[in-house]
Amino acid sequence: MWWWMLGLLACVLLLAVVIFFLTAGRRYKVFSEKSLRPPAPLVTDSRQRDDRLKRGFREDRVPPALDAVVIGSGVGGLTAAALLSKAGKRVVVLEQHDQAGGCTHTFQNKGFEFDVGIHYLGQLHEGSMLRVALDQITEGQLQFTRLEQHFDTLILGQEYHIHAGKTEMADSLKKQFPGEEEAIDEFMRLMKLASRRTPLIATLKIIPYWLASFLVRSGLLDRISSVFRLAATNHSEMMSRLTKNKDLKALSAYLFYGVPPKDSSFLINALLLHHYKRGAYYPRGGASEFAFHIIPVIQRAGGAVLVRAPVHRILLNQQGKASGVTVLKGQEEFEIHAPVVISNAGIFNTFQKFLPQPVQDKPEIQSLLGLVRHGMGSFLVFVGLDGTKEELGIVSTNFWMYKDNDLDTLMERYSSLSREQVLGNIPMMFITFPSAKDPTSNVRHPGNWGFLFAICYTNVFVFPGQIENMLLYVWNKIMSYTLTQMFSYTRTSACVL
Ligand SMILES: Cc1cc2nc3c(=O)[nH]c(=O)nc-3n(C[C@H](O)[C@H](O)[C@H](O)COP(=O)(O)OP(=O)(O)OC[C@H]3O[C@@H](n4cnc5c(N)ncnc54)[C@H](O)[C@@H]3O)c2cc1C
Repeated sequence: MWWWMLGLLACVLLLAVVIFFLTAGRRYKVFSEKSLRPPAPLVTDSRQRDDRLKRGFREDRVPPALDAVVIGSGVGGLTAAALLSKAGKRVVVLEQHDQAGGCTHTFQNKGFEFDVGIHYLGQLHEGSMLRVALDQITEGQLQFTRLEQHFDTLILGQEYHIHAGKTEMADSLKKQFPGEEEAIDEFMRLMKLASRRTPLIATLKIIPYWLASFLVRSGLLDRISSVFRLAATNHSEMMSRLTKNKDLKALSAYLFYGVPPKDSSFLINALLLHHYKRGAYYPRGGASEFAFHIIPVIQRAGGAVLVRAPVHRILLNQQGKASGVTVLKGQEEFEIHAPVVISNAGIFNTFQKFLPQPVQDKPEIQSLLGLVRHGMGSFLVFVGLDGTKEELGIVSTNFWMYKDNDLDTLMERYSSLSREQVLGNIPMMFITFPSAKDPTSNVRHPGNWGFLFAICYTNVFVFPGQIENMLLYVWNKIMSYTLTQMFSYTRTSACVL
């Protein structure tokens, strides 16, 4: 009997969703092929770029009659603002830093340009959803270069190469792990399933909360699709069911984002690797091209993106609804009003800093915050090398290096170390050469090649007096081991910035 009721309920919900999207489509013409233009030439003039990316906050620059305020100009905030702008809304994006873009911003020092947080993206092949979405919010101006098929190298003592390609990824892994063909096939199957069924997880956010809660608590969710089980199973446990090979287990979670495999969902790690299966791409002109091409879409609808605009508080009206924000400039606090406030500044900033104490203290907010915790951070070192790509022999492949193939124990041991012990015990490094990926690099910065490496660290790492030692240690490590392994190092003139 209850199967009938559930089926009926599902049909009603489906109908409601279809009607909603059909009528919304008529109300807002957000996406259109007409908004695409042929890509314009790359803008290299720093004045022109700064006018757009570094427009400072002034009260008279805040557009009147705003429809929404967005806190933070990361790609998330800019995307939300651009979509609203395409629907005809007037939006202001407020950014605390001195340039827009968040993790996609780049900076220059001593003639070198450095990326901060975009080193490769996947799923950008023609017709992919991400490609269509990026085209829409940049009017087709953001261009990408496809990287080599061998896009990542993983060093676990032994070296492994990760290849992109519908069949090539699995084929190359099978060659590198003889005897593990079955485990690799099953891993690939689960990766595909994860990718195809993940939208079902989003439907949990669309349906009413009580229904989502009922489906979770009753265990019905697992019967609807196995993707929910993949999401709820930790990576280490799932991989233990597939193989005993420790290197293969480590490889399946090598795209490290600060959470050890035993504490991360299998679904997320599978999706991450799947993301690059059809190829890895790099933004032509560098990562700052994201913000550079999204901002005009916001401006065209009467909106603005203003930097040096640290949001201090979210304002609430008498009904307790968000009604604007305040921006702190020196001792002065400016009020900006809008009926919608979108915070892209992170859950902890939003709930623990921007909202008033009585709201923070609400049990539902506390229980929400109790579900999340800060991940591990990274310590980034930016290095400029004086030489051409050919002289230095640098490549577009990224390098992931781990001290051990047991990532769980490695991270657990590392986070329990004392301040004094951490210096000689760095568990992993990520090394990448953005300039080797971008064909416009040698036009924009001839002869200067920047690279970045990131080292996993915990809070104990950053303390005064030790930074120089840390840099020295890392630098020595690179000179003595990494570079010689990765490329034929021919010039010694380099600077650590
Ligand atoms: C080292 C590194 C490497 C990465 N590599 C890749 C990669 O290769 N490929 C990939 O796809 N992803 C990569 N990522 C992840 C990717 O960069 C991020 O997931 C993405 O850019 C996050 O965007 P966001 O908009 O959510 O947040 P953010 O970019 O963090 O934006 C948040 C913004 O909010 C602003 N803000 C905070 N508080 C306030 C305030 N009070 N007032 C105003 N503004 C405020 C911040 O200054 C920031 O600009 C990497 C990340 C890092 C750190």
